[in-house]
Amino acid sequence: TVPGELKWAASPSEGGWEEVSIMDEKNIPIRTYQVCNVLEPNQNNWLRTDWIPRSGAQRVYVEVKFTLRDCNSLPGVTGTCKETFNLYYHESNEDRESYIKESSFIKVDTVAADESFTQVDVGDRIMKLNTEVRDVKVTTRKGFYLAFQDVGACIALVSVRVFYKTCPLTIRNLATFPDTITGADTSSLVEVRGSCVNQSEEREEPKMYCGADGEWLVPIGGCFCSPGYEEKGGACKACSAGFYKAKSSDAGCFKCPPHSHSVRDGATVCDCHSGFFRADSDPPSMACTQPPSAPQQLISVVNETSVVLEWAPPRRLGGRSDTNYPRMGSGSISSSQLCLPCGSDVLFSPGQTGLKTSRVVVSELRAHTHYTFIVHARNGVSQASGAGAAQSVSVSVTTNQAAPSPVSSILAIDVTRHSLSLSWQQPDRPNGVILEYEVKFYEKDQKERSYRIMRTFSRSVDVTGLNPLTVYVFHVRARTAAGYGEFSAPFEFSTNSGIHAVKFKIIARMLSLVFFICVLNLHHLCLIRRSKYSKTKQDSEEEKHLNPGVKIYVDPFTYEDPDQAIHEFAKEIDVSSIHIEKVIGMGEFGEVCSGRLRVQGKREIYVAIKSLKAGYSDKQRRDFLSEASIMGQFDHPNIIRLEGVVTRCKPLMIITEYMENGSLDAFLRKHDGQFTVIQLVGMLRGIASGMKYLSDMSYVHRDLAARNILVNSNLVCKVSDFGLSRVLEDDPEAAYTTRVRRKIPIRWTAPEAITYRKFTTASDVWSYGIVMWEVVSYGERPYWDMNNQDVIKAIEEGYRLPAPMDCPVVLHQLMLDCWERERAERPTFSQILNMLDKLIRNPGTLKTTPEERPAEMLLV
Ligand code: AMP
Repeated sequence: TVPGELKWAASPSEGGWEEVSIMDEKNIPIRTYQVCNVLEPNQNNWLRTDWIPRSGAQRVYVEVKFTLRDCNSLPGVTGTCKETFNLYYHESNEDRESYIKESSFIKVDTVAADESFTQVDVGDRIMKLNTEVRDVKVTTRKGFYLAFQDVGACIALVSVRVFYKTCPLTIRNLATFPDTITGADTSSLVEVRGSCVNQSEEREEPKMYCGADGEWLVPIGGCFCSPGYEEKGGACKACSAGFYKAKSSDAGCFKCPPHSHSVRDGATVCDCHSGFFRADSDPPSMACTQPPSAPQQLISVVNETSVVLEWAPPRRLGGRSDTNYPRMGSGSISSSQLCLPCGSDVLFSPGQTGLKTSRVVVSELRAHTHYTFIVHARNGVSQASGAGAAQSVSVSVTTNQAAPSPVSSILAIDVTRHSLSLSWQQPDRPNGVILEYEVKFYEKDQKERSYRIMRTFSRSVDVTGLNPLTVYVFHVRARTAAGYGEFSAPFEFSTNSGIHAVKFKIIARMLSLVFFICVLNLHHLCLIRRSKYSKTKQDSEEEKHLNPGVKIYVDPFTYEDPDQAIHEFAKEIDVSSIHIEKVIGMGEFGEVCSGRLRVQGKREIYVAIKSLKAGYSDKQRRDFLSEASIMGQFDHPNIIRLEGVVTRCKPLMIITEYMENGSLDAFLRKHDGQFTVIQLVGMLRGIASGMKYLSDMSYVHRDLAARNILVNSNLVCKVSDFGLSRVLEDDPEAAYTTRVRRKIPIRWTAPEAITYRKFTTASDVWSYGIVMWEVVSYGERPYWDMNNQDVIKAIEEGYRLPAPMDCPVVLHQLMLDCWERERAERPTFSQILNMLDKLIRNPGTLKTTPEERPAEMLLV
């Protein structure tokens, strides 16, 4: 339809494609390009369009209308006649390329005439007009050229239409999606984000996909009309007067609820009519309401020093169901006629505020006192309405006389073998003048089967004629003109034994003498030794003298009869009170099980049960029970507690408290890296505290290692394993190495203990340093896979374990202190405990780690 000539480039310029004007069926002149060299062989005639800008399109469609002569209809043609032509394209940024090589064109398709043609009358001829559409991806340049190659057909190009497809602008789910050009491939979808229409807000990000054919697909999300607006015809329109919409998610505008109105379009909430209110918690859909009227018919019934108040609900509840009686105002009038608020000791039942019921009992009032009670009624809009005072009703009463309240505590001010002197305070509420006190008492064992009564005018009494060393139970009550009050709660006091008192004094004197001698000793020791840690002699024998008054551990092997030791230090448990549940480990003498223990009169507890396997020798029995004899002497939160033993039937058992997390080394390996430094230090503190206790008792553990620490469910670590003998192991790399009589855990043991069996608290401190290292490295094996001989040699040469990963410098320094060659230079457990406490109190000191740490061992 172009007026004038198109002037597309033809090659060859003569004898190939020619621009010919013809008349279409409506007699309108149109331009065509024709070629018809059917009689000559080897035709190669090219026709190239002008540059076509692609305008953002990625796939363009080319619709070609053409006529093509059937070779058979041409008289005298030979095999040179063709019935197809080829369509090419070439992408380019140049809009005026004068010459383009044929080889730069890319073929789109070979086009043939098909059946779908229309017949067109052109002048006196009828033309069969074919329409073919091809599509092609154009993404690399600003535009492109099309070319038609004829290879010997008789063609007339009547129309070439080039277009691309878009998904047209649309509104879906209140979101606008712009006109969008389709993607480059026939299967590609273009994701498009919509924008909410005016007066709407996003419900969920609105999205759709533009398909290759220009249709919108898969709408997701969308928008809501804003509060005050509702959807109409794909847009948001304001709610009209008398209507409101509170939330964007509401379905539409609603009529204003009762007693409210909206005068303007677009209301989000309706205003209450005058005299009506809305509480903060009321939803906009709720009707506006009013505060309640005052409670009605308040009546009071006085019963000694209690008053029962009852009232009827307010006549008007204001259209709400949340009326309550928020606070019982009350005041008492004293003799001076000034109204004072009731004290906090007055009891209101069921309560003083927020009452839902219309009855309350007020007790513990003073006798003969005038009281005024005010009952307020209120509901959710009382505060908004500001009408508090108008909603209350009051009543005044005078309480009667009443008995005194009970005496709250009794003290024993002097105790002898046969007498007790007691004293007490006047009752909190005497309710009148106290005329007398009555003291009731009996022997505790006798219960109240037989008791004695004494009366006194004062607030004390001397009770004589009692039995020595006997517990008595006392109750005291007061009497006024109104009668006796109630007895006090029971108070227990025991008479003492004169003999014991004398003995006690002698022992106390002896102890102070011993203490004096020890202080002298200590002073002497301090003078002769000096070290970084104020040195103490670490040998257990010597320590015994340094701890006057402290219980000393008794070696069960000093008893000739082992059963005597066991019965002195351990409780015999009836096997029927033990309920074994499962096997949890393997001990030296047999299985270790968990289970429950129920001792009469005590609650059931979880326990660990070690048993001695059948076929044991006398020595094994003795060794097995020795652990219980030792453990039974200890009582500390960081030492495993012995519950008792079973020796009267077989198998023999040792029952201890149950430690849910088992042994510390395995526990740490299982939870590698999961604890904070403070938690680790907390564990170490527990172990140090247990060890301090053992060292105070002059007990040398000899086998302190993470495997011998047990952990409970609260991460409390307790020292265990007080066995005195070790099984022989064939493995030379085993923890224990045979030396003379007993096996030594080389990696944990101080050098002097290895070389000349000098086991002391100071050698336990060395082991404690190793335990510190095990804990901070989460259960790593000390000295890794070095063999025992190499470990001994390395220590001898001054090597020490390096700081584990992320180990605070202070902790490693403490380890190094524990590993001082000179045992007197090592800290005591008491010093270690103090140090750890300090670190826990100042966690900042635990943060510092050295900048670079050599991977190999440290030479100290
Ligand atoms: P022992 O003979 O004390 O070395 O105990 C052997 C294993 O039994 C230990 O390594 C623990 O895993 C477990 N075990 C021993 N005593 C207890 C206990 N009181 N609570 C929990 N597990 C224990």
